[in-house]
Amino acid sequence: MRDPGFFRSRTELVCDDVPLSAIADDVGTPVYVYSAAAIRTRYHALDEAFGGYPHRVHYALKANSTLALVRLLRELGSAVDANSIGEVDVASRAGFEPREMVFTGVGKSPQELARAVPMGLRAINVESAGELERIEAIAAAVDRVARVAIRINPDINARSHRHISTGLKINKFGVPSGVARALVESVRQRPRLQLVAIHVHVGSQITRVEPLREAAAFLAELAAELDSRGVTLEYLDLGGGLGISYDGSYVLSPCEYVGALVDAVRSTRLPIVIEPGRSIVGPAGALLCSVIDLKPRDHESDFAILDAGMTELMRPALYEAFHRIEPARPRAEAPRHYELVGPVCESTDVVGKDRILPALQVGDRLAILDAGAYGAAMASNYNRRPLPAEVLVDEGRWRIIRRRQTIDELLALEE
Ligand SMILES: *Cc1c(COP(=O)(O)O)cnc(C)c1O
Repeated sequence: MRDPGFFRSRTELVCDDVPLSAIADDVGTPVYVYSAAAIRTRYHALDEAFGGYPHRVHYALKANSTLALVRLLRELGSAVDANSIGEVDVASRAGFEPREMVFTGVGKSPQELARAVPMGLRAINVESAGELERIEAIAAAVDRVARVAIRINPDINARSHRHISTGLKINKFGVPSGVARALVESVRQRPRLQLVAIHVHVGSQITRVEPLREAAAFLAELAAELDSRGVTLEYLDLGGGLGISYDGSYVLSPCEYVGALVDAVRSTRLPIVIEPGRSIVGPAGALLCSVIDLKPRDHESDFAILDAGMTELMRPALYEAFHRIEPARPRAEAPRHYELVGPVCESTDVVGKDRILPALQVGDRLAILDAGAYGAAMASNYNRRPLPAEVLVDEGRWRIIRRRQTIDELLALEE
């Protein structure tokens, strides 16, 4: 059976049997389209890869926290990883209990900690000695014990793009292992704090097993050392980072990934937490847009100007990311070379360089594939562009899960 999501049925590009051009006709463009079936399949693939090994999947909300998708993940049995108090609020709104949330993030404001500590989250993943002290002070003030995990920077090269590697000592994330040992000791002295886990997250879009295996082994070794000193953890948080194939090339499978993690930590017998974002929702979403202008050039590819660009999907401008781009309904015409660009006044607003597509006309619809993660979640109002609509396809039907923002809504904050 074919994987659910986006594929061609005869010539039409469809999302689980719903033609993308039908959605574009109805809702207009730009619009994000998601496949509920693809999200289910991808979540289950990760969850089931653990076999009987104790674990919990904490979906990383920052990849995409549109409420309907967060609710869908909750129905599947996921827990969450929140990177701001706003994401904690989204998770609460979607029905998650505080004990199903871990709160990570390199900088948590006093206001965020004041909200988070009394909630009784599964863990606040601590990034520094100062943060630990601030959490303790709040816990004392509200007469609670705060559950904390310590995020460690293992100095491992994730070998993904330099802008999405987080586990090298040059990166701002976590504390070095020496500092982590000292923090563990200091937590032991403080009755207001309970150490529940140690945490690593070495980067995103990791396509080979080695850095992930190395990080897990590093954490397992430290856990064993702590255990021998009488520090018992509840679980190991191995972060997210599993990559997806944006260009069709080989990437690590959920089974290989989870297998490596379990092998690396099995001797500790500690349950595993993972925080996958991209690998669950990335391929389950596409950004549907229209060609709004064409500019032929002599001796070079033509420009095709789209009604979506860096404001809707920042990844190409931000990290030189590649996304496959396909016509929703290809014309039976000779292919041409195109430079596919957004409408925003920035030279980096290029969605696809040097692409070969059947000749385009103004009004044609294109789908930018694998845009479910770090797409809608990173969209901005630059150039006063309203945030795009979002649609969820489920069991042959589709519905709007976020309507297009209006200029009135945008300006409402200023009046
Ligand atoms: C971004 C992030 C994740 C999710 O990363 P993916 O590459 O989307 O799986 C998980 N944990 C932490 C701490 C993060 O910052």
